Amino acid sequence: MAHPDTLAVHAGEPPMDRPDAPMVPDISVSAAAAYPDLDTLDQAMAGHRGYSRWGTANHAQLEAAVAALESQAGGGPVEALAVASGMAAIGLAVLTDTTAGDHVVAANDCYGTTITFLRDDLHRFGLTVSVVDVQDLDQVRAALTPRTRLLLCEICTNPLIRIPDLEALAGIAHEGGALLAVDATIPTPALCQPTRWGADVVVHSATKNLSGHADVIGGLILGRPAWIAGARSLAHTMGPALGTFEAWLTLRGIRTLGVRMERHVANACALTAALARHPAVARVYYPSLSGSPYAARTARLLPHGAGALFSFELREGREAADRLVRRLRLVRLMPSLGHVATTLSHPALTSHRGLSEEERAQVGISQGLLRCSVGLERVEDLLEDFEQALS
Ligand code: PLP
Repeated sequence: MAHPDTLAVHAGEPPMDRPDAPMVPDISVSAAAAYPDLDTLDQAMAGHRGYSRWGTANHAQLEAAVAALESQAGGGPVEALAVASGMAAIGLAVLTDTTAGDHVVAANDCYGTTITFLRDDLHRFGLTVSVVDVQDLDQVRAALTPRTRLLLCEICTNPLIRIPDLEALAGIAHEGGALLAVDATIPTPALCQPTRWGADVVVHSATKNLSGHADVIGGLILGRPAWIAGARSLAHTMGPALGTFEAWLTLRGIRTLGVRMERHVANACALTAALARHPAVARVYYPSLSGSPYAARTARLLPHGAGALFSFELREGREAADRLVRRLRLVRLMPSLGHVATTLSHPALTSHRGLSEEERAQVGISQGLLRCSVGLERVEDLLEDFEQALS
C-alpha cells in the first residue's frame, strides 16, 4: 500500500468516468436528486441515495480517504462515516451499539463536552457510565460490568497530552465483551491509527487538524463495515449530517495532511524543547520530550510524532499567562486547536471551567497553564515571538 502521505493526496479522488473528468471533486449542492420514473426513484430510495442527509458523492470521497488512512494499520477492513461534528461522532460511537441498561466506561481526561454528554445526558436513555483514570489499568478492569459495551478514551489527551496504553485497554475491553473506542482527533490518522493497536471504533473531530484550517465543524467515525452500517443507519434517522461543503473542505484539507503534520510535529518539538529550558516555565507537557513518562509509549504508538498540541505552565500563574498572551505578536488566543496558525488556549477558563479550582488542581490544571496548538509558521519566528513575550 502507498505511503500514508500519498494516500492523503489521492484517496477518494473523483473517478475518471467521463472525458474532461475533474481533478478536484465537484460539489454536489442539491439537497435532493430528480428521477425520470418510479422504478429509478424506487431504486434510489432503497439504496438511500438521492437525499443529502444520507450523504453525497462528497461525503463518500471524504469517507473513502479517511478509511484509507486508517486502513494502513493493516487490521481488518475499516469503513468511515462523516458526520456534522466531533461530538456527533462521539454520540454515534456511544449510541450505535447500546440499549437501555448497558454501561459505558470512559477516560476521565476525555474532552470536556464528551464527559458532559456521558455524565449528564446518557442516563436519560437508561445507560450508565463510569469515568475512570485509564492510566490505571486496575481501575479500568474494576469498572467493567457484564453490561459494559464500550470503553472510550482519547489519545494525546487535552490539555496534559497523556498517552493511554491502547493495546492493554483493547485487551481489557475485549476480555469483558466490550469495544474499545478511541478519539484520535489530536494525532489525526496521519500519526496514529488506533485500529492497529486493537481499537474497534475510532473518532475524529474533523474540526481540528484533520481539516486543518479552522473553517470546518465536522466529525468522522470509523469501524468495521458491519458496525459502521449500524452507525450509518442511526445517522440516517437521527440526521447529524455533515454539510456538503464541509465534506469538500475537509477532503481538501486532508490532501496536505502529511506535510502539515510533519511541520506541526517539528515545530512542536523545537518549541517544547525551548520552553522546557526557559526560566519562566515550570513545566512542559509534550509526550515526545525525553523526560515525559509517556516517551516510550509515544515512540511506539506515535512513531512519527505526537501532533501539534502541547501545554506549559508558567511559574507566576495567571498573571504571567495573561502577560504572555498580550505580548505575543504572531500567536493568538483561540479556544480551539488544529489551525495553520499557532494558537493558545487557557484550559482553566475554557475546557475545564466547569470544575472547581480544587478539582482542577487535582488533575494538574492551574491558572498558569496554557495550551498551545502549534501552527505551520517557520519555527524561528515562533521561537522569537515566545522569547520576546516571555522576557
Ligand atoms: N474530541 C476532541 C479531542 C476535541 O478536542 C473536540 C473539540 O475540541 C471534540 C472531540 C469535539 O469536536 P467538535 O467541536 O468538532 O464537535
